[in-house]
Amino acid sequence: MARVVIRNLNKRFDEVQAVKDMNLKISDREFVVLVGPSGCGKTTTLRMVAGLESITSGEILIGDQVVNELPPKDRDIAIVFQNYALYPHMNVYDNMALGLKLRRFDRAEIDARVHAAAEILGIQEHLRRKPRQLSGGQQQRVALGRAIVRHPQVFLFDEPLSNLDAKLRVQMRVEIKKIRARLGATAIYATHDQVEAMTLGDRVVVMKDGVIQQLGEPLELYNAPANRFVAGFIGTPAMNFATVAIADADGALWAHNEGIHIKLPSEVAGGRLRRYVGERVTLGIRPEDLREGSGPDTADLGFDAVVEVIEELGSQILLDVKVGPNMMVAAAEPTVQAKVHDQLRLALNPDRLYFFDGVSQAAI
Ligand code: ATP
Repeated sequence: MARVVIRNLNKRFDEVQAVKDMNLKISDREFVVLVGPSGCGKTTTLRMVAGLESITSGEILIGDQVVNELPPKDRDIAIVFQNYALYPHMNVYDNMALGLKLRRFDRAEIDARVHAAAEILGIQEHLRRKPRQLSGGQQQRVALGRAIVRHPQVFLFDEPLSNLDAKLRVQMRVEIKKIRARLGATAIYATHDQVEAMTLGDRVVVMKDGVIQQLGEPLELYNAPANRFVAGFIGTPAMNFATVAIADADGALWAHNEGIHIKLPSEVAGGRLRRYVGERVTLGIRPEDLREGSGPDTADLGFDAVVEVIEELGSQILLDVKVGPNMMVAAAEPTVQAKVHDQLRLALNPDRLYFFDGVSQAAI
């Protein structure tokens, strides 16, 4: 059993509080992704779990053991770094075998483990090559292999795909997903890439300024973001936001500003928004929930928009539009015929409107 438990974890570097009161329970064999913008504390968290960074206060358990004072080599973890950290003068086989040799595994066991890992990663033919004779993706596989041969209880991944070009990154992401089950271990994976987080994680931890913003399954974060930060961070293109005032007109609730004037469906308006009547809140709409449409259903639940920029992506067209003073992005079907300066009617999906408290920005 190798669950990882993080309790009230804090890390302070002089002026900077890199990790604040973090609490996280990762089950045995769970794959958890830490995601957030640069500087949010992902790497520091991983390094504390690995034992490469001291902790200011709190507790880390691997299995049932508190590891705060345990040196990295005794923690039964393996780390895959962004920069591969391969030894250039050693061939692939020796790079993968080194950690086991240092731990005095016998030769037959090392050989079996290296070949098994090479087979999982599809690098059997490259075992005699030096790292410089490999592509970036192949080097990253060797770095993964070096971790896999260790059979650790916990894998730690620190932005392992960041050095790869976009296409390779997608390919390696899929490969990590494929081999995940075969790793048979608990994993903590840090990345700033929300797509990577959503594809790989059983659960995803969104961090900002050292604080966990939300912890949940990928679709939970997408469908029910806890606050405006998570809403804007998860999903591409990012969610649109506009400040609106909530008004009550004969029992119906309306959200309005200069450009937006929508009647809120009663399910939305009931309960949770009623106490905001007379106040400003943040309205959130995902680009994929905006569609071109001028039917009667759009009269109260749509708005007029002027197209400013058109981004043709092939599978979809992104329309950067102006709605009064608000800039928004609509992800339209590729068949939509639109030109810059066109005026469109955009319809909203009534089930997919988000609202955030104007002050705390917590989801309403
Ligand atoms: P990135 O994706 O850029 O690596 P991150 O989310 O991994 O970012 P951390 O590297 O954990 O973030 O850094 C968190 C904060 O702690 C940052 O403000 C960073 O400047 C600070 N920090 C990290 N290491 C040190 C250090 N050794 N000394 C001082 N401050 C540090």
